[in-house]
Amino acid sequence: MKALIIVDLQKDFMPGGPLGVPGADKLATLINPLMKKFPLVIATQDWHPLDHCSFAKNHPGKKVGESVKIKGISQVLWPVHCVRDTAGAELVEGLDKTPIASHFYKGTDQSIDSYSAFFDNAHLRSTGLSDYLKSRGVTDVYLAGVATDYCVLYSAIDAVDLGFKVYIIEDACRGINLQPGNIDKALAAIAARGGEIITSQKL
Ligand SMILES: [Zn+2]
Repeated sequence: MKALIIVDLQKDFMPGGPLGVPGADKLATLINPLMKKFPLVIATQDWHPLDHCSFAKNHPGKKVGESVKIKGISQVLWPVHCVRDTAGAELVEGLDKTPIASHFYKGTDQSIDSYSAFFDNAHLRSTGLSDYLKSRGVTDVYLAGVATDYCVLYSAIDAVDLGFKVYIIEDACRGINLQPGNIDKALAAIAARGGEIITSQKL
């Protein structure tokens, strides 16, 4: 069975938002008709406490874009974004919410970030998404949303490692390209792991 996972299509990630992803505002209208092609649709949301370790402002003297080590893992520092229960953490208004069967929240632990929809960045705690999908007979996972080079990338890698057949709907994703070429590198890494890069026309 196929499932569509819409990754972090939240207001703070839209252009003009604190962590705006170029072109992300084009995705809702593209994803809305795609949802009808899937028997199961899931949405993930970045859902941080205000004192979250990924926010540059919680590391005195550090700037957005710099990295720190957290629990031995390199952590990029971001502007404050997707603080739980705030308007910026809501899914974008243009996205049709009715087909979404369940929402999975990530980055909820102050002390560690979670790019992947499945695990935190240290792989210490599961979000429950894998068990949820497997208990419903899902074998094939299709990913859309933001950002190609962070949350989509790490979700895809984990999904492959968890035994799912993984498809990235490339035109239904947008990335940050903090360094030029990061989006292409992310897609190459997913393909090398065994994921397939497709376009929405193939669905
Ligand atoms: Zn975040």
